Amino acid sequence: MPLILEVALPVPLDAIFDYLPHPHTAHFRQALGCRVQVSFGQRKLIGVIVGHKQASDISPAKIKPIEHLLDLDPILDPGWLAKIRWCARYYHHPLGDTLFSCLPTLLKKGEPADALQDQIWFTTYLGQQIEAMPKTPAQWRLLQMLRQHPHGLEVSAISAQGFQSTQLHKLRDKGLIDYRQEPKLTAQVSGPLLAEAELVLTPEQTSAVQHIQQAQGFHVFLLEGVTGSGKTEVYLQALRPVLARGQQVLVLVPEISLTPQTLHRFRRRFACSLVALHSGLSERERLEAWLAAKRGAAAIVIGTRSAVFTPFANLGMVIIDEEQDASFKQMEGLRYHARDLALKYAQEAQVPVILGSATPSLESLRHALAQHYQHLQLTQRPQTNKPTPPPLQLLDIRSLKLQEGFSLPLLKRLDTHLQAGNQVLIFINRRGFAPALTCYTCGWLAECPQCDARMTWHKEPPRLHCHHCDTQQAVMLTCPHCQSEDLHPLGWGTQRSEAFLQQRYPEIPLVRLDRDAVSTHKRLQTSLQQIQQMQAGILLGTQMLAKGHHFPRVTLVAVLDADTGLYSSDFRALEHSGQLLTQVAGRAGRAHQAGEVILQTRHPDDTNLLELCQHGYSYFARRLLEEREQLSLPPYEYLAILHASGKTREQVHQVLTEMAAHLHPYIQATRGVEEADSLIQAQGLNAIGPFPAPMERRKNRYHMQFWLQAAQRAPLHETIAASLRYLRQHKQARTIRYAWDIDPWDT
Ligand code: ADP
Ligand code: ZN
Ligand code: ZN
Repeated sequence: MPLILEVALPVPLDAIFDYLPHPHTAHFRQALGCRVQVSFGQRKLIGVIVGHKQASDISPAKIKPIEHLLDLDPILDPGWLAKIRWCARYYHHPLGDTLFSCLPTLLKKGEPADALQDQIWFTTYLGQQIEAMPKTPAQWRLLQMLRQHPHGLEVSAISAQGFQSTQLHKLRDKGLIDYRQEPKLTAQVSGPLLAEAELVLTPEQTSAVQHIQQAQGFHVFLLEGVTGSGKTEVYLQALRPVLARGQQVLVLVPEISLTPQTLHRFRRRFACSLVALHSGLSERERLEAWLAAKRGAAAIVIGTRSAVFTPFANLGMVIIDEEQDASFKQMEGLRYHARDLALKYAQEAQVPVILGSATPSLESLRHALAQHYQHLQLTQRPQTNKPTPPPLQLLDIRSLKLQEGFSLPLLKRLDTHLQAGNQVLIFINRRGFAPALTCYTCGWLAECPQCDARMTWHKEPPRLHCHHCDTQQAVMLTCPHCQSEDLHPLGWGTQRSEAFLQQRYPEIPLVRLDRDAVSTHKRLQTSLQQIQQMQAGILLGTQMLAKGHHFPRVTLVAVLDADTGLYSSDFRALEHSGQLLTQVAGRAGRAHQAGEVILQTRHPDDTNLLELCQHGYSYFARRLLEEREQLSLPPYEYLAILHASGKTREQVHQVLTEMAAHLHPYIQATRGVEEADSLIQAQGLNAIGPFPAPMERRKNRYHMQFWLQAAQRAPLHETIAASLRYLRQHKQARTIRYAWDIDPWDT
């Protein structure tokens, strides 16, 4: 019988805490995965039992007993706990905080882990036999309705027919009907699984579906298909047999609210229980969905990043749509990548994974080319009347005069497409009115008082806004430096282009999509509807426009500035830029009309841009991969970045320099120094830094980075663990903030 319980708590300490079992509750019930309430210092906290042991390092008298046992049945099974442990270890994040980042909020708050129950009413033997009830015609009608449902009917369905609960209870008093309780979401579906006919597949789709259906156990497919090539149809047909076997499917998507169409297609296709996890859900709905997946009642779970932590009773397949998307990487706290975790979990569950993308990440592409993943390609759009994605055309604007960011040749193309009654899509990578405000007299620029960054000028509501720290200021009327009134916007944001286009095309409807314009789920739906309903029109926006939408009437896509990302210090910038431009371009000509894609550039001879335009993403990405290999960058080597910040530059620099010196033997050892006394034997661990972060001052703190790069994971992780051990006992390190980012998405 275990004497000590190990409890994970939602605290930012890398420790698990010892408690004694509840004195009056049987030990065997205080099992792994059950929640407990404990006192922690002055506070009462809810924790989860993650282990048992016989003895503690702390003297028995000092160990407190738990105060309450909240669950009789574990909320987390051992398999799930093992996953969380793996995740915490891999990302070098405290186990308690990792575990609590993945739980539904209501469970964190101590709510019972019970699903809402439904009353299911059914007829008794007597109720089936009785022949007439002349005095109570309404009750008779109710009884007859229930007789038609041998499995029973939910109370909600009964009241929808206009019956009252008093009528139900009167019939029950007569012994004619009764009810049972069942969780609200159930997996039971009567009738066929398919709610609509499947499309006839193209040969490429057929081959993809066949390969996936033949897969047994853990097997990863990279489904690389140009936009509009029918990847979703492949997912739908590939997962049908999985559902038919009674197994569950996890579908990860970048942002549900941005692509409600994908969700509708899953709902339309299958008559099975589907839960969608998105930001629009209430906490109660979230918990219900989580519980439904856990007891196997949700056949399909579609969700964004955090849905990867959903527990499943019987997982049969994992699908990750737009696997390269930035939203799968959490950039703060537990800095996990949902795709990478999903792959790990699928491996443990021994189920196949489909990674789908028009523009695969270099990570996945590399594995596909090395045949670790099976590469399935869709090169054609279905139906011959739909043109393939149009080529990208570069428009050299070096010697052209721009009107609010638009060159004359581009404006002429806009005129033509709008006059023909089509929609045009304009992509601008900046929201706000202008990315900066400047004084023409003295050259002063409005800068954020807290960051090494310029303030973005917004017109509605009017303000200067720092997009890095959220500082906001009133727009000044005179230059604070020379008092001149000659203040002007510098550069273009979506609001400025909107104002210009409305003036130029007063008759044409315009929909702006960016985070300021569509701050809520509802406003986004309204905007998307407006786009579907209008004829000629202008769609203007940021990245939000680039993702997954189906805009059948768009025939021209214009990118105002294709050059951002070409000359960035971030080694992933080119990859991301190529993906984004390709995604934006993919919005053109999706229906029956041929499309046109125009990129304004000041670097028309840039080899990367030319390659992307002339040969497409697939070719471009393969060449980037060669470059990464030559430079030993990810995905050929593994990278981790320590982000540290403090009140002064010196403070951060000193701690990181001392840490680097401490790590030196580890790094030496892995470089093959014979006498080094370390377990690490692998070759090729590199340390770079500390050096200032790309934006050194942010929110009035100084940010620095320290990079570790290695050809193998083991030495990398061992060195990171050593760095954390060192920092935790380092006095000055307490005055700075630091966190490792494993497999960083950007720098
Ligand atoms: P992707 O996800 O690759 O961008 P979708 O799955 O959204 O592409 O498919 C684009 C369009 O083509 C959708 O309207 C879809 O219904 C249609 N489609 C897909 N496969 C077929 C097919 N085999 N036959 C006819 N239409 C198809
Ligand atoms: Zn000035
Ligand atoms: Zn700022």
